[in-house]
This record gives sequence, C-alpha cells and structure tokens, in this order.
Amino acid sequence: MASALPMKDILSCAAHILPDIAQTQIDPPEQPKSSYSPPSSILIIGAGVFGLSTALALTQRPEFTQTRITILDRSPDAGIFPSRDAASIDSSRIIRADYADPSYAKLASQAQARWRETDLGRDGRYTESGFVLAADVGPLARDDGSPTGIAYAKKSWVNAMALAQSEGRPLSSVRLLPGAKPLARVTGVGEFADWGYLNEASGWADAEASMAWFYERVAETGRVTFVNGTAESLETNEAEKRVTGARLKDGSTISADLVIAAAGAWTPTLVDLSSQAIATGQVLGYIDLTEEEQTKLEKIPVILNLTTGLFVIPPRNRVLKVARHAFGYLNPKTPSSPPLGIPGDKSSLKPISQPFTHLDDASLEIPEEGKKSLREGLRRILPWPELQERPFARTRLCWYTDTATGDWIIDYHPYWKGLFVATGGSGHAFKFLPVIGDKVVDCIMGQCPVEFQQKWKWKPVDDIEKAIVTHDGSRGGQPGLILDDEFSKHE
Ligand SMILES: Cc1cc2nc3c(=O)[nH]c(=O)nc-3n(C[C@H](O)[C@H](O)[C@H](O)COP(=O)(O)OP(=O)(O)OC[C@H]3O[C@@H](n4cnc5c(N)ncnc54)[C@H](O)[C@@H]3O)c2cc1C
Repeated sequence: MASALPMKDILSCAAHILPDIAQTQIDPPEQPKSSYSPPSSILIIGAGVFGLSTALALTQRPEFTQTRITILDRSPDAGIFPSRDAASIDSSRIIRADYADPSYAKLASQAQARWRETDLGRDGRYTESGFVLAADVGPLARDDGSPTGIAYAKKSWVNAMALAQSEGRPLSSVRLLPGAKPLARVTGVGEFADWGYLNEASGWADAEASMAWFYERVAETGRVTFVNGTAESLETNEAEKRVTGARLKDGSTISADLVIAAAGAWTPTLVDLSSQAIATGQVLGYIDLTEEEQTKLEKIPVILNLTTGLFVIPPRNRVLKVARHAFGYLNPKTPSSPPLGIPGDKSSLKPISQPFTHLDDASLEIPEEGKKSLREGLRRILPWPELQERPFARTRLCWYTDTATGDWIIDYHPYWKGLFVATGGSGHAFKFLPVIGDKVVDCIMGQCPVEFQQKWKWKPVDDIEKAIVTHDGSRGGQPGLILDDEFSKHE
C-alpha cells in the first residue's frame, strides 16, 4: 500500500506539471432550504438518464407524494423505455470520477459509490476494469484559450489522486504513466498516447442493462405512468406565460402543472435552445471477436485518448466497441414546427441540428470520415494486425446534447413558467444515473447545489449567431462537420 500523502504534497507535486491547479476540492457552504409548493402533476418528456432518474427521485421525496407523475417517450416499442436510439442505450458507458472539474469529479465519485455498492451495479451491470485517461503531449491551451486534452488529463489526474486520498484508497490505485511505453506496458495494448494515468477505481457499465434495471425500479413504485408517444410541441397559456402540457403527434394532449423537458438531443426541437445546447452525432463501431480474442482483451482497462477522442471499452460477449468522443456531426434541418422560444425571438425559426438514428433509417451507417477515424484508433490502440483491419460488424450514430462548457442545463425556463429543462448531457452524463435525478429535484425545489448553480443555469444569450462548440478539453475530431456533407462525399 502506498502511504497517504498529505493533500498539500499532492497539489504541490501536481503544480510542477500544471501550474494553475490550485482549485481542488472546495466544499461549498450549504444552501438555506426555501419553502416549496409542489405541483399537482408533472410531465417528464424523455425516459433517458435525465428523465428516468428524475422520475425515481420524485417518487422518493415526501414533498411529491400527492403529485401525479407521467413520463412520455417517443420509443416506438410498447413498454420499452427509453427508445433504443437514446444516448442512454448502448452496450457500454464509461463510469469514471476522472474529471478536470473537481465538482463533477466529486459528484461522479458519489455516483460511482452507488454503482459499486448497490444492486444497480450487480450482475455485470458495472465492471471496475480500471480506466486509462491519456492524451498526446502539446500545448495546454488552444488558440482561443480553451483547454486541450493534455490539460484536461493532467487536471483530472490531480483530482483522481485527491479523491483517492479523501476516500481512503491507496494513492497507488491512481498510477501515473508518463510516456507511450509505460502506457502500453501497463494496459497491455499499443502505444496509443504520450501521457496518461490508470485509475483502478473506474470502469464501465452495461448501459442497456442498467437502464432496464432502473426502469424496473421506477415502474415498481407504481407512482409513475409511462406513455409511449412523441411530444410534437408544448402547450402554452400565453396570457399567463405558462406551459400547460404537451401535444402529441397523434393529436392528443397531456396536461401538467410542470413539464420537464428531458428529451436529450431532441430537446432543442421542443424548446428553443439555440443559445444553450446543440445535438451532435458521434460515431461508434463494433467488431466481433473470437473466443480467444475475447479472453485476451477482456482484462484490459477502458482506454481513452482525449486528444483524438478515441476510446475502447473492454469486450463482452465477443464484441469490442471503439468510439470517438468528438465535436461530432451537426445535422441542421428546419423543424416541422418551431420549438417553443421567447415570443419575438426569431432564432426559433432557424434550422436546428437534429438527431438522425437507426430508428429513422434502419440501414444507417456512420460516414466514411468516422469509419476512417475509428480505424486509425484501432490501429493505434490494438497492436494486433488481424484486429486492426477487421471490418465493423455494425456502426452507430449516437447523439450528444452539447453545451459550450460541457455543463448540463438543469433549470427553469427563463420566460415560460411551468417549464423546467434537464438536459445538456454533453457526452458524459450516463455515469450519474444513480444521482442526477436527486440533483434535478433539488434544483426544481430551488435547492441547486451551490457549486453547480452557475454551471447548470440557463445561460445569458451572448451571441446567438455563434455555433455552440464544446470547449472543455475533452473532444477529439474536427468541429463543424455537417452530417449530410459527409454522407454526400461517398455517394
Ligand atoms: C456515443 C456516446 C457515448 C457516451 N459515452 C458516455 C460514457 O462513456 N460515460 C458517460 O457517463 N456518458 C456517456 N455518454 C453520455 C450519456 O449517454 C448521455 O449524456 C445521457 O445518456 C443523456 O441522457 P438523456 O436523458 O439526456 O438523453 P437520452 O438518453 O437520449 O434520452 C432522451 C429520451 O427522450 C426521448 N424523446 C426525445 N424527443 C421526444 C419527444 N418529442 N417526445 C417524447 N420523447 C422524446 C427519446 O426517445 C429518448 O429516449 C455517451 C453518449 C453517447 C451518445
């Protein structure tokens, strides 16, 4: 066991690597509790991580025992929540408390304790494989001053050590790997980055199985009505500046005192988020393995190079997943009906980047640009030629709801009463499934945690013409790629 270094020593050692690191682990003061009058009915639109977790938290709060709770999802399969093309559904998602931002690191650590210690993480739903966060060396900031992958990785390393220290884990569980060779030696794969660290306390979850488990927990409360259906638009009472429910595609309406828009990357088609969030398409590829290859690879940690965004999750059932955490593709389309905006604001009539998935087109494959990038990732990460060139058994486009800073949006709408927004996952919200709903309900009740008040609030409109690009240092690829342009290059 490594001896427990005092925090000041950890920080001073980190300061040699990254000079601006002084802001770790500050416990904010408790917020005073305000009196709160709960609505008699709540409609949650979207049964992904944000929606389902919020529904469960509402059923657990005494303030909401008299509240009727309905959750609506466009899932076409009766009784299946969320829809199979939701961002929350996949073979795997990384579960890490490895964040450059200490507030998210701490919240992720609380979530991770639930993955580790409760039934949610049992029966293969959570695997603590270890996680290598790495990057290629280079400047710590881009030309616009935003952090690079290496800056993110180094800050995250400091936060990971601080968490290990405060949680009583040996500091040796966070192992510095300061070069391509130590990275390759410790992970057992190729020389896929220049600098990184292994956090033994991180891992991955079977996302689909975890969502199914979580859905069962919500359903068995008997408190939540699940409805298969698509909200076409929000219903309003303009005189009162109030949202009163949702109109569905089949012409029916669901009324509610409070509507929570938690429709993931589809949220901007319901609520005008042109100054807040944008849907970006991300690429995933799956390759089939032999039994021998499965055995060879199943003990590797999760691997992520933040400079390229490319990552690999250890295989299960002889399927290996490679993906890219990137700026992603934009898919601007004019909506069939404009999303609900602030009256007089013309931005709601503009084209909106919208998800396009395998449920829209069963034969959908990712663009060649994405395939090429995943292939380069495989070649760099896996040192075995037969695996490097193996064709993808399938590919998938999965949609992030990106904000400029990577912070979520958990706040009341600035104009419409009765409308709350819980979205902006920015490609990293899955791990928070066991805790995020509690935070959403805190914010609904006016008790948003102090350290997240600025991060999660509806942001003032700076420049609505400027496209939102996530500059948190965690993204690979190229900003601004248009999905249709990429498809048309190879027609
Ligand atoms: C490729 C990829 C990799 C990721 N990797 C990780 C990771 O490793 N670790 C991690 O923590 N996070 C990861 N994430 C992020 C995480 O999965 C998301 O942040 C999270 O799942 C978002 O949840 P959500 O509830 O906002 O959206 P979703 O899960 O997309 O749910 C939204 C739901 O709303 C429904 N809906 C939409 N429009 C309507 C409508 N009009 N009416 C009714 N229902 C509607 C949809 O059908 C959907 O079911 C990843 C995401 C992607 C795409």
